Amino acid sequence: MIEIEVKVKADHSKAHHVLKKIGAVKLGVESQSDVYFAAPYRDFAKTDEALRIRSLNDQAVLTYKGPKLDGISKTREEFETSVDEETTIQILHALGFSEAGVVRKKREVFRAGEITVCLDIVERLGEFLEVEIVADSEKELESSRAKLFELLKQFGAEEKDSIRTSYLEMVLEKNKG
Ligand code: ATP
Ligand code: CA
Ligand code: CA
Repeated sequence: MIEIEVKVKADHSKAHHVLKKIGAVKLGVESQSDVYFAAPYRDFAKTDEALRIRSLNDQAVLTYKGPKLDGISKTREEFETSVDEETTIQILHALGFSEAGVVRKKREVFRAGEITVCLDIVERLGEFLEVEIVADSEKELESSRAKLFELLKQFGAEEKDSIRTSYLEMVLEKNKG
């Protein structure tokens, strides 16, 4: 799967207003706790990859993300599967992986046509909005990205507002200062 995503800073009370106006459907709300891992053999921050375990409710999901494929969005390959959290952590530790950082957030998820809209309240960082399309192949990439920026206009955001820094990088940066 290819994840085509744009992240912006957003005032959620305004965003809720827009979501209502465009008839977006609320899919749910999740408390997510994401542990990112560092590989012993390469630096994911440099290679722009990610390996994480996300816990939500009593479920855990293991995700690998590949390097970003363009300069303006957060489009990348993504593989995801349900796992047993404890066992997966044991396997990763046994292989030499270590925890790189944790990101906690509350995420409200909406659907507007084929676009998923997430309103994220990230611990220590504040309010963000992400729009996303998941595509089977890279050929839909450009048209999907255009659709995302078109929808973002409704929220008063444009291409220059696109944030390509990950939540993890922002949290790690905060921890430094
Ligand atoms: P999702 O969209 O899958 O729900 P998210 O919105 O919670 O994820 P993002 O900030 O969009 O979080 O993506 C997670 C990011 O963390 C990825 O962009 C990845 O490149 C980054 N990342 C993972 N490991 C590291 C690391 N060791 N150093 C720096 N960045 C990392
Ligand atoms: Ca995403
Ligand atoms: Ca994201």
